[in-house]
Amino acid sequence: MSAAQVGDDVLDHDPTVRRLEEQVAATLGTAAALWVPSGSMGNVIALVLHLDRGDRFLAPRGAHVLDSELGTSAWLAGGMPHPLEWTHGPGRVSAEQVRQLGAAGGPYYALRTRLLCLENTHNLAGGTVTQPDEHALLVSAAKEVGLRVHLDGARLWNASVALGVPPAALAVGVDTVQVCLSKGLGAPVGSVLAGPTALVAEARRVRKMLGGGLRQVGVLAAAGIVALERVADLAADHANARALADGLTELGWDVDRPQTNIVLAHVPDVRVALANLARVGVLATPVGADVRFVTHRDVPTADIGEALRRIGADRVSPDRAARV
Ligand SMILES: *Cc1c(COP(=O)(O)O)cnc(C)c1O
Repeated sequence: MSAAQVGDDVLDHDPTVRRLEEQVAATLGTAAALWVPSGSMGNVIALVLHLDRGDRFLAPRGAHVLDSELGTSAWLAGGMPHPLEWTHGPGRVSAEQVRQLGAAGGPYYALRTRLLCLENTHNLAGGTVTQPDEHALLVSAAKEVGLRVHLDGARLWNASVALGVPPAALAVGVDTVQVCLSKGLGAPVGSVLAGPTALVAEARRVRKMLGGGLRQVGVLAAAGIVALERVADLAADHANARALADGLTELGWDVDRPQTNIVLAHVPDVRVALANLARVGVLATPVGADVRFVTHRDVPTADIGEALRRIGADRVSPDRAARV
């Protein structure tokens, strides 16, 4: 970061930002890409591009754009959200739903369904992966009924590593895709929104409207370039997540088998469980009624063993409310 060549990126002259954007576009198989300060900004820019007031968009229940972005899809992009049920397992939706809900028609006062917003991996579902063939079916269903497709790929890198397929194989056919450089890859800041050249040129205007046009920002893009070199390391996070899940299961916890780097534990009282964990120095976050553990490059394998040892030694059971 300290050695990064910089220029004024509001004037589109920062060479390090350009290098990162070209690299991400090549990796995702798109014509162009735009660095943005956060994944949330990348998503809302895409939704602004795809939606008008009076439009509706479809997204899997629990999607980040539905639950974790303060409704910007509605108040900035003008789109009414419609959650899709997880008919194909956690975080996964069916092409039939897309076809049915996306079909045009209805009276003049009906919302117009315009966009399908996918999420891979699905964060709240527990980092669950959509396979390339399933992705292709969803995209072709959307196209059949005239919908655009945005992919929230904050953790697309995890899906790619878990499946052993290139990230571009998971973004086939989409109009825009957003990827994070700060989730598990170690960049302090930054995401990239990728798509066709004309849409990315529009995205640059919307980024500026939102106050996201930054000047000598190559220092941050440089961290993004390092992040891209670390994608393969995510396999270690996935192995650590599996070890954590196996260890917790042995200790009597009810956990989902992780597909990537997120472990969901079902507990009788999430507040009590988190307090018990914190007491022995293990930090996690709540997702609904579940405890959510995330493994990442700053949690080495030895720490997984140590966390399990502490949970076991202290008998931090998920349901011992009296211990708080
Ligand atoms: C984290 C995340 C985002 C948003 O990224 P920020 O950089 O925190 O704004 C978007 N989508 C998903 C699925 C995420 O996990």
